[in-house]
Amino acid sequence: MPPKKKQKKENGFMVFMKSMKPQLEAKGHRFPRGFLDVISVCSPLWNELSSEEKAKYHQKAKDGDGLVKEERCDTRGVPLNLKAKEEQKKVSEKDELLQRVEDMVSYLATQGTLENHYFYLAHFNIAVATSEGEYPPCEISIVKFSLLDGIARYYHEFIEPGQIRLGYANEAKIHSESTHQIPTNGFKLANANYVAIVDNIKKMLLQSDGGIAPLFVVDEDKVKAVYILDWLVKKCCQMNETYDTVNPFKCYSLNKLFYELRRHADLNNPSLMFASPALVADHFGKGMFYYSKNMACQWHVEEDNVTFCSLTRVKNYAYTISDLCCENYDLSLLPNRHCPADVADDNRYVVLPKVVKKEEPETPAVVKKNDDEEESTLPRKPRAPAALTLKGVVPGIGRGILSGSMSSIQSPGPSQATSTPPPPAGRGRGRGLLLLDESN
Ligand SMILES: [Zn+2]
Repeated sequence: MPPKKKQKKENGFMVFMKSMKPQLEAKGHRFPRGFLDVISVCSPLWNELSSEEKAKYHQKAKDGDGLVKEERCDTRGVPLNLKAKEEQKKVSEKDELLQRVEDMVSYLATQGTLENHYFYLAHFNIAVATSEGEYPPCEISIVKFSLLDGIARYYHEFIEPGQIRLGYANEAKIHSESTHQIPTNGFKLANANYVAIVDNIKKMLLQSDGGIAPLFVVDEDKVKAVYILDWLVKKCCQMNETYDTVNPFKCYSLNKLFYELRRHADLNNPSLMFASPALVADHFGKGMFYYSKNMACQWHVEEDNVTFCSLTRVKNYAYTISDLCCENYDLSLLPNRHCPADVADDNRYVVLPKVVKKEEPETPAVVKKNDDEEESTLPRKPRAPAALTLKGVVPGIGRGILSGSMSSIQSPGPSQATSTPPPPAGRGRGRGLLLLDESN
């Protein structure tokens, strides 16, 4: 039986050679036979090192993960080994972020505050995506959402994307025309006051402990969103030298949040678990509410292009989550908060008989005026009397709109209107924070 091939362990000198090789190559050395040639150049250099310096390399070899291998590189000369490690790091960071969402939802559920907790869902439209990995933004929308309240408020803004990178003007034009149609330059509603924009976002996300709540974006927009938030902070620093350079924003997976919210309605009910991450993305991607009323900002309504509006997209996320989760929490749906009012009016959601007509002090529908409001501390309770709910829904399957399970319509009562419905979308466009409770 042939002896097993022993893998050579690295020693300090090998680590030294590996670190020196690129430097020597940069100085013009050539090593056609690989490390065999490197040895002759590196030996005298190694001998010149002090024992302390050598000890550092020996330690690296000891700690090191590598066995001596022929270093294979990609076309840019980046060792594949290194690339694999970077990929691995990215994967573990991603897993960690997903775990954080799971832990957050699980914690809120054990505290009994999951239904009351406000999550911030965001969407960004961009002027163009460059191959340099840039995504200058042109429109942003954020909604403050809870299972109990639905959309409690929102923020919408057109952002001045600034000078588009040379060579991308035409691509930006094509992108705009085929999607959101926002002009890439000279757009009169675009806000170039980045400090005001970032301050508005921070103000919206500010928590009582001084922390900034994370933003939830769909997985396909994650890279873009991280770039844009960083871009905004950098713009602020350019505008104001004393501006805090630390980016306070965190981006979490909205897909994962949706998955966890639905699952946590009843952990013992496996039918509440989405079968795959792709299915979660599908639900958002269907855009079931894109064409409902009061979805887009005023400008996109006037342009007759509601589906690509950032505000439409982000409201669609909130309504889709409500559609597939609230019923499982015994939570009723409020028009323009959990579902578009016209959907309710179309009898797709019906009003339950008013069994008890009384004041409901616990109704969360009244939006507080101040921005520093905290999470609702309302009891976890279905608002059964006169509440909007869906008809013909099989518990745990999903609601009628998305599941298509509604075949017959009962005669609906009047729409429950205890909520303060949002104003027409886009009020005060270009003015910064648009709040549901805005009084001017
Ligand atoms: Zn819009």
